[in-house]
Amino acid sequence: MKVTKIEVLQLRTVSPGWRPILCRVYTDAGIFGDGEACLAFGKGSSAAFGMIRDLAELLIGEDPMETEGLWQKLYQSSTWAYNGGPVVFAGISALDIALWDIKGKALDQPIYQLLGGKTRGRVRTYASQLQHGWRPELFSFDEFDVAVGLEDYKRCAQCAMDEGYDAVKVDLLEREDSGARMPSHKQDSILTPEMLELAQQRMEAIRETVGPKTSIIVEAHSHNSATGAVQLANALEKYGVFFYEEPNIPSPVTAKYISQHTDVPMASGERIYSRWQYAPYLVDGSLRVIQPDIGSAGGFTEVKKICDMAMTYDVFVQPHVCGTPLATSVALQLEAVIPNFIIHEHNSNLRSRSAQGIAKYNPQPVDGCLEIPEGPGLGNEILPEAYEKAVCIATVTGDGCSMKVNR
Ligand code: MG
Repeated sequence: MKVTKIEVLQLRTVSPGWRPILCRVYTDAGIFGDGEACLAFGKGSSAAFGMIRDLAELLIGEDPMETEGLWQKLYQSSTWAYNGGPVVFAGISALDIALWDIKGKALDQPIYQLLGGKTRGRVRTYASQLQHGWRPELFSFDEFDVAVGLEDYKRCAQCAMDEGYDAVKVDLLEREDSGARMPSHKQDSILTPEMLELAQQRMEAIRETVGPKTSIIVEAHSHNSATGAVQLANALEKYGVFFYEEPNIPSPVTAKYISQHTDVPMASGERIYSRWQYAPYLVDGSLRVIQPDIGSAGGFTEVKKICDMAMTYDVFVQPHVCGTPLATSVALQLEAVIPNFIIHEHNSNLRSRSAQGIAKYNPQPVDGCLEIPEGPGLGNEILPEAYEKAVCIATVTGDGCSMKVNR
């Protein structure tokens, strides 16, 4: 079997700043595989599109079953992957995911079987980003129901409880009490008593709503200084924090400082890529939970190794999931296998209208758990409608690259 053609899709902006990047790898056996680069948010999705397009040339004519060797080829031939960042690793990830999808389809097995088989039947899941407004019905991004007042946090937490979740995640300082976005100069400084009180009041409102047994994950999106991160962790500890995500810009130096000044378990990973970048956090024990995104840390080939490395340090794994429904299926395939899996992230975005019409399935938790997809490969695939939503499609073959732009 040989790779004959690769398509890269940049979807239409479906919300402010959300432009998913997908790819499809074709073979001469009539089997194709789908992948996703998890750089849809923020700035960089166009760069991921270009990165996949450039890397795709390296796969034309190759045997897609040789995932280990092809990962190594992508890593060694791109020049920029050594100590690389999100763009090059998102490119490698999307293609690696698609190759594993092909391998699963060729062998008529779900990817989890090829990674070692199931260690669990369904996965515990948390309602992620309550501050964006958690509500039962599908929403559009222009209807964003941002949580500001304490009643908002209680309402969103109650909604998650009513749906059967026993774990939630929230960024307590994304908004000021006026509803305005928290200015970064306030968050990355020493936190004022007013900010700490605001965070505590919101945390208390959630804890009162969900009761003592529900896990609450606190998220800071890397916005705090190391000093502020310690202040916030210690202020919130009494409410029970399951773990504390990205308290500070990822750095082994500051992560060590924070972990030495609080007992709250620390998590990070959506801005850490490849085995080499995870290693120092594991060696010094600063992270107790790692959160690699399979769509940006190196794909199945790399993230399985990162997870196994973490296990030797007694560190748990919650893969970061912030893409289309295809990314959910990607995460579930790995989560089914790894013994040190702790919990799955279900982002509020996956309940939006924007997440519809991209992938064949958009798995939604039942009673706070997701089932493992049982179809061959990913058990999910890009829908034809996604091609209609694409603003740009690059097609790479042995004859070069052509671009189609839909305006
Ligand atoms: Mg996060």
